Amino acid sequence: MARPGTDAIVSMLQRGNQRFAAGGVRHTHCDPNRLGLASREDQSEHAVATVLACSDSRVPVECVFDAGVMDLFVVRVAGNVCGPDQAASVEYGLCHVRTPVLVVLGHTRCGAVTAAVDRAPGRGGAGPDNVARLLDRIAPAVARARAAAPGAGRDELVARAVEENVWQCLGDLFRLSSDARDRVASGAVRALGAVYDLATGAVCWLGDAAALAAGHQDRG
Ligand SMILES: [Zn+2]
Repeated sequence: MARPGTDAIVSMLQRGNQRFAAGGVRHTHCDPNRLGLASREDQSEHAVATVLACSDSRVPVECVFDAGVMDLFVVRVAGNVCGPDQAASVEYGLCHVRTPVLVVLGHTRCGAVTAAVDRAPGRGGAGPDNVARLLDRIAPAVARARAAAPGAGRDELVARAVEENVWQCLGDLFRLSSDARDRVASGAVRALGAVYDLATGAVCWLGDAAALAAGHQDRG
């Protein structure tokens, strides 16, 4: 079965999110027919997008896009950061599941981003080392948010850092994965940043990451 093109997939995700935010979900692809299909066919024939999102229970990725079985290849990690394991999972989604679209989905009031904001600049935080290492991946996004709005209060800083952290994740992905970088830079995969609003259910689309991927290609 031929998959839709990248623009059609993005508008499919946008329409699914609009239904979700409006309380009009269709639950397509959640029926026994789809389960039967999943038991017989390879997901690479069907899944349309790889989504890297936060683990937060308030961000149920398939629900957010009114998607179902075999629609999305989802990578979830606290704070939607991208280290080597996440980069490998995204590569799997792009190269083996062959999804033509990649979305990095941050969300408002993210606990991991808030913890990174609350950590004193330039200092490691209290808590387990593993959590500190995860927050280290968010720290550059917090630094850019602080630099862009020096007088900002905590809520504004968190909101800005959430957006910056989406771009941080995409930049880290392109640094770690030449497969992802080359596919996005060439246009074979369309990569987008987005932020999910916990209060409204709406996804705000931040834009395309092709230029960011091309920039990382130039750096080699
Ligand atoms: Zn989060």
